[in-house]
Amino acid sequence: MAGNPDFNLFQLEDFHDELRSAIRGLAEKEIAPYAKEVDGQARFPEEALTALNAAGFNAVHVPEAYGGQGADSVATCIVIEEVARVCGSSSLIPAVNKLGTMGLILNGSEELKQKVLGDLVEGKMASYCLSEREAGSDAAAMRTRAKADGDDWIINGSKCWITNGGKSEWYTVMAVTDPEKGANGISAFMVHKDDEGFVVGPLEHKLGIKGSPTAELYFENCRVPGDRIIGEPGTGFKTALQTLDHTRPTIGAQAVGIAQGALDAAIAYTKDRKQFGKTIASFQNTEFMLADMAMKIEAARLMVYTSAARAERGEKNLGFISAAAKCFASDVAMQVTTDAVQLFGGAGYTTDFPVERMMRDAKITQIYEGTNQIQRLVMARNILR
Ligand SMILES: Cc1cc2nc3c(=O)[nH]c(=O)nc-3n(C[C@H](O)[C@H](O)[C@H](O)COP(=O)(O)OP(=O)(O)OC[C@H]3O[C@@H](n4cnc5c(N)ncnc54)[C@H](O)[C@@H]3O)c2cc1C
Repeated sequence: MAGNPDFNLFQLEDFHDELRSAIRGLAEKEIAPYAKEVDGQARFPEEALTALNAAGFNAVHVPEAYGGQGADSVATCIVIEEVARVCGSSSLIPAVNKLGTMGLILNGSEELKQKVLGDLVEGKMASYCLSEREAGSDAAAMRTRAKADGDDWIINGSKCWITNGGKSEWYTVMAVTDPEKGANGISAFMVHKDDEGFVVGPLEHKLGIKGSPTAELYFENCRVPGDRIIGEPGTGFKTALQTLDHTRPTIGAQAVGIAQGALDAAIAYTKDRKQFGKTIASFQNTEFMLADMAMKIEAARLMVYTSAARAERGEKNLGFISAAAKCFASDVAMQVTTDAVQLFGGAGYTTDFPVERMMRDAKITQIYEGTNQIQRLVMARNILR
């Protein structure tokens, strides 16, 4: 096997490299210039949405059969990673579009896919609505109810922390349809922003990813046509968890991107800044810190791509690897961005440089799509089974 040029273990395809180069160019030219302002004003990154839509990078995961780019899971991670390298908030556009439609792609009807995915290809967005105020880590304890009414479903309740809430056209909403059956009594629905009784509540004021709106949503006798259910009644919680198996790698990719952005900034700064008559990069302590940062990012990237590739191959037991990739990469992002701030000294603590924003943005990757404690529970359950 050695020396066989066709044996490309651990090597991305050429088109992955070409994709990275294309999305990096777009991100640096059309997204990076606004990242500081988007964060400072806590405003939606419209420039990023326009640029991503124009290039078809807003929802690269949508299969070609529905007019999308049909990017594989690794390619989707590369897009998210490269956008996150310059702006964490903007990277949630492709990331949450995948999160908001993955359940539909996995288990939805053909007609529903045509309708929703077609909208995404046109530049509209989708969100994922699992969490509730009293049901976060324990998501199966949700209280939002859906009751059949003739051919329709009537949803009542609320969801909180919904990324891109108010900006999205479509919402994958998990609701209890049979309270006697616990997690097996939860169903998933595609709710449209114009559905009667769908109300967008207030936005959260956050530590980071300030350009990504996080909204509370209310369902007030919200009427949803019967054909908007995803799969059979009672399969919604399974769909929600299956979705996370496919999207936790994308949060890992976001974390890797944020960490890489911080490392790149730290390398440039430490090669330029002089103290004691030398660049600070020439101090061995700095060299070792940079080396550790780069080493951890490389390990995280490999784990993220591996988990994405396994999801792409349709492997069944993704629980461990997708939780591990998300958990490891987000812990790395927190360490690396904190070290980057340290290497900048006082300057790192100011908004003159991007590393403090990156440190704040990194924090959320340890919390959403399940906190890293919950990821460790998922991993432990898998290895102890
Ligand atoms: C900015 C942002 C965006 C988000 N976007 C979305 C979205 O688009 N869609 C969506 O559905 N949700 C979203 N969420 C919700 C997110 O997934 C939850 O916040 C997260 O799952 C944790 O739930 P919680 O906040 O209720 O924390 P809690 O469940 O109250 O947890 C509090 C603490 O207790 C720990 N804990 C809880 N249970 C256990 C346990 N069994 N063992 C050990 N430790 C435990 C947690 O790890 C955490 O440290 C978002 C959240 C934020 C902040």
